[in-house]
Parts: sequence; C-alpha cells; structure tokens
Amino acid sequence: MTKKAKKSTCTRCERPAYYIDSLSHNAYCKRCFIRHIRKKVRKTIAKYHMITHGDHIAVGLTGGKDSVVLLDVLAHILKKSKKVKLTAVTIDEGISGYREEGLAIATKLAEEFEIEHKIFSFEELYGATLDQVVQIKTQKNLPKTPCSYCGPFRRNAFNVAAKSINATKFATGHNLDDEVETILLNLMRGDHIRFLRLFREPIQVNDLFVPKIRPLVEISQPEVILYALARNLPFQQISCPYAQDAMRNDIRNMLTSFEEKRPGTLFHILHFHDRILKILQQLQKNTRNHSENFDTQKNAMSYSNLFINELHPLNRCKICNEPTSQELCQTCKLLQQLSA
Ligand code: SF4
Ligand SMILES: [Zn+2]
Ligand SMILES: [Zn+2]
Repeated sequence: MTKKAKKSTCTRCERPAYYIDSLSHNAYCKRCFIRHIRKKVRKTIAKYHMITHGDHIAVGLTGGKDSVVLLDVLAHILKKSKKVKLTAVTIDEGISGYREEGLAIATKLAEEFEIEHKIFSFEELYGATLDQVVQIKTQKNLPKTPCSYCGPFRRNAFNVAAKSINATKFATGHNLDDEVETILLNLMRGDHIRFLRLFREPIQVNDLFVPKIRPLVEISQPEVILYALARNLPFQQISCPYAQDAMRNDIRNMLTSFEEKRPGTLFHILHFHDRILKILQQLQKNTRNHSENFDTQKNAMSYSNLFINELHPLNRCKICNEPTSQELCQTCKLLQQLSA
C-alpha cells in the first residue's frame, strides 16, 4: 500500500519525499508523514468510538514495532487530553534470549514518555514461564505448539492485568496487515465465532472483559515500520523463537503479493468484514424489535444466543473466575493438562 519514496517532493510542503502512498499517490516528507499517520489513527479512533473522556487505557507494550508506535502515537494524540490516562502494560511470558530485550525497550520507552509501566509475568500468574511450559509439554509428549499455550495465557493475562489497574480499555498494536490476516485465518479455518467476534468497536457487555481496542487497525505494516524509523523509536527486531504459525505465514505471503499487484486489497477485506458485522448487528436489533411486536421469539433467541452467549461468554471459570463460555476457561484447561 505504501512504499518508500524514490525521487519526489512532498505533496504538501515540497520537502524531499520520505514515502509515497500507492493508493492516493500522495508523497510525504518525514514530518508530514508523521502528522499523516497520527491523523489517520485519530480518525480510526473516532470512527470506531474507541476512546471516550474518562478512559484509562492499558497499552500493551511488548517492545516490538507495533507496540512502540502505538504508545508513541497515543501519547501524542492524547497529550492535551487530561481526561484520558495511559498505563503501559507488558506481559513477560518467560522466553529466555528473547523477552529480555523487549522488556528493556518497553521500560526505557515508558520512562521517556513518563507513563506508568506495569509488568505481569506468566511465572507470577500461572506458576511457570513459557520456557518451563514447553519443557513440561515436551516431557509429557503433548502435541500442542508453544503458541497454543502462550496465546490463551497472554489473552487471560492481559484481561487480568487491565482489570487489576482498573483500566477501562485495553489497547493493542495490531495493524491493518495483522487484522486482515486474522479475518482470513478465521474464514479459512471455518471459525465463525472468532470471525464475528472481531469487532473494531470496544464492546462492553459485562464487567468480566476489559474491552479491547486496536487503534492502528488502518495503518499498514510498512507504514508502522516507516513511522518507527521516522521517529527514531527503538524496537525489537528478532522474532519469538517459538513462532511457527504456518497458516498465518502463508496468508501473509499471499496478502503481500496481492497488495503489491492490487493496492487497496487489505482495505477492501477490512471494510467487507466491517459491513458484515454491521449487517448482523442490525439484524439482531431488528429481530429483537420484531420479537417484541410480533412474537417471533424463536428467531430472536437464536440471534441473541449467537451474540450474547457465544460472542460474549457470560460464564465465569470455576477456577480463576475469568470469562468463558464453558465451565473452565482455556487457560485453566491447559494448566490442568500440564499438571496431570
Ligand atoms: S510467537 Fe507464539 S510463543 Fe511467541 S510470543 Fe507469540 S504467541 Fe507467544
Ligand atoms: Zn511535507
Ligand atoms: Zn480459568
């Protein structure tokens, strides 16, 4: 979608161009590019009603490019707003040789921005580091990948962390490429619940979940990298040693090649998904109104069940009290398998 400028001048101020948007063909110098990205994020936040006055935002800060850009952009967008508080939150999975660098970058950056920084570790929360979990699962010959443990543990940890600091929203650095990969991944795996649960708006159905927001969802990966470089932000460049989602990698490669040949593909997929969610929400509303007036209770129930019970589980896990659609949450189930 965007690429580094070859030889041109900024469309706005005539300084040397830093990059050109391949959709609009606008060229931006470094300074105008930084402003352009911040403006785009501000628009995304407004469009999806992500932040309101009085919010306390827990910002997921891993030390990777997306999270450092997220913190930088939010800190600048919100610096004049005394009514929104930011706290940086880092989850330490306990991956030796990898997580230490990210933690050091996150700590340095939070200090520079004078933003409170909280660290929560798997060891503290679950009694074992991810390295230890991998060791146990290998000894027990359990077939799951390290990410199958880390993913649910991290989601659980973020929710617990955000609640413990009384955050009203939890912001993550997912960018446009990540979001579209997730949409296609859910589609290709036939996972309709995850496909329909991927709301861009923060959804507050009960006090079990801290609503998530992804303010960089309309910023492409190349734009994130160029922004980090333009702002001289430090970020971790090595990947997690356990990363091995082959299907996501295939989808990423496919999307990169489509986007190169047909700029705008990522946006089309994102907006298509947006429209499907809107249509379903509208259907749910209509069916509810309809059921009140014409007694079509059965249909209304099926939509309500889909939206309330499946998309937003209301049960509490019998062990840890976190939200789940079953008796035990995924984190507790995995911990039980490891200790069996
Ligand atoms: S790649 Fe997998 S193991 Fe590594 S941090 Fe991500 S989810 Fe965890
Ligand atoms: Zn300019
Ligand atoms: Zn649990």
